[in-house]
Amino acid sequence: MTEKLQTLMAGRWRDASGPAYATEYPHDSSTVATLHAATAADVDEAVQVAEAARKKANWAGLKRHERAAILHRIAGGIRSRGEELAQLQRLDNGKPINETRALVASAAGTFQFFAAACETWEETLTPARGDYFTMSVNEPLGVVGAITPWNSPIASEAQKLAPALAAGCAVVFKPAEITPRMAIELARIAQEAGVPDGIISVLPGKGSVVGDALVRHPLVKRIAFTGGTNVGLAIQRLAAEKLMPTSLELGGKSPTIVCADADLDHAVKGVLFGIFSSSGESCIAGSRAFVHASVYNEFKRRLLDGVKALRVGDPSSERTQMGPLVNRGHRSTVEDFVALGLQEGGHLLTGGARPQGAMYDKGSYYLPTVFEGLPNSARLCQEEVFGPVLVLLPWTDEADLVAQCNDSVFGLASGIWTRDYKAAWRIGRALETGTVWVNTYKLFSVSTPFGGVKQSGTGREKGRLGILEYTAQKSFYWGLNEAPLPWAD
Ligand code: NAD
Repeated sequence: MTEKLQTLMAGRWRDASGPAYATEYPHDSSTVATLHAATAADVDEAVQVAEAARKKANWAGLKRHERAAILHRIAGGIRSRGEELAQLQRLDNGKPINETRALVASAAGTFQFFAAACETWEETLTPARGDYFTMSVNEPLGVVGAITPWNSPIASEAQKLAPALAAGCAVVFKPAEITPRMAIELARIAQEAGVPDGIISVLPGKGSVVGDALVRHPLVKRIAFTGGTNVGLAIQRLAAEKLMPTSLELGGKSPTIVCADADLDHAVKGVLFGIFSSSGESCIAGSRAFVHASVYNEFKRRLLDGVKALRVGDPSSERTQMGPLVNRGHRSTVEDFVALGLQEGGHLLTGGARPQGAMYDKGSYYLPTVFEGLPNSARLCQEEVFGPVLVLLPWTDEADLVAQCNDSVFGLASGIWTRDYKAAWRIGRALETGTVWVNTYKLFSVSTPFGGVKQSGTGREKGRLGILEYTAQKSFYWGLNEAPLPWAD
């Protein structure tokens, strides 16, 4: 039965004011829920209410340890509803259940981490240079707009909501139109945990309507955005007009390097995981694998064996490694990229098609796909596919390898497989990416800052200092001199 969803908006559970729409389960394209999209007027109302709510004593007056207690309760709320949330997210974006369970667990961990950071972060006393003392305090920026994509909902939303609440801000969410569910459930859990009415609103709907109005709103003092590079660039332009800080977590075309001395079993499994988990719908997908020429053929043989063994199928099964793509429209985009790779002269080693069989007919499935024979300058090596498409590229010379890896507008992440720690350090330092994984890939920790360089974004999320991104620093000078200031003598 189709569920009718309401959202928490401007302090009340209700329908947003725009047209109704439905969300679909990517496995079989069945309707999961119906809800209403928000309008620009809804954005204005939610932001005004958030601005008023954040100034009230029941939020602005809380001590840090009291806000931390609320964050701990949110972590507890996520954990106690963990399995239900994981199943709901599976229905929203078709990720395999094991992945959505991990995302839910990581969201709970994010709130726990920022609860600890919230109550232990210290204001700074700066060294005095005269008869005064100086200190810096950090104050909440105000209302924050959080805009998220469809690929890892609860985790990306927690990464924004937890530090923003820890800092004392209010948050108006704009989740991806097709995956609104996790933001709505997070708002419900936060409300039950004691976040006052009006502090969190969730406005589902189109980016061009809801997201745009949120970015432009004069009372929105920061945008925390995760999504594609083109939208990120447009947000940055609008933000410049009101001098609004942003964090932009954008796209990627991440290189994975396999050195001649790598443990090939580890490297093959790491490359498979790096590109094909989440069906490649991951900003950090390792979509370009640079393999040393001396091990290229052996690596390719083992990789293709590994691809053949991947279990593509029903996301509700715990054995599934790759579920469907998020919808048929996105699958068409991936298919266009594969056609482009062939036009560019690429040699298709495996995949490049939809899987056959009754289980796959109604869903938006696509096979894991591997190309070789393309130069790094090919569009398939330069543009983000956001799907299960890997290109293998042989290399011999380290300087040329680094130049090719860096020959990209993106700079999100990279991987290096080698037994030589000096080589890993040398290459890792030379790569223009925000994250480097050595003999591992796609590991994440909330305690370690994450973000990109170049067109993969600006700003960092996570890490203890992540809270400060949601604050403005204010400096105090306390005069200690008994005599009046000498100038007016
Ligand atoms: P998208 O940029 O199309 O949408 C992201 C969000 O922005 C959605 O909520 C969308 O509705 C909203 N939006 C769209 N137009 C807008 C506008 N004009 N103003 C304000 N908001 C607007 O991205 P997507 O297709 O949902 O997600 C895929 C992209 O996200 C990929 O490029 C991927 O690499 C990126 N991503 C990056 C990270 C990271 O941490 N770097 C993580 C996940 C996904």
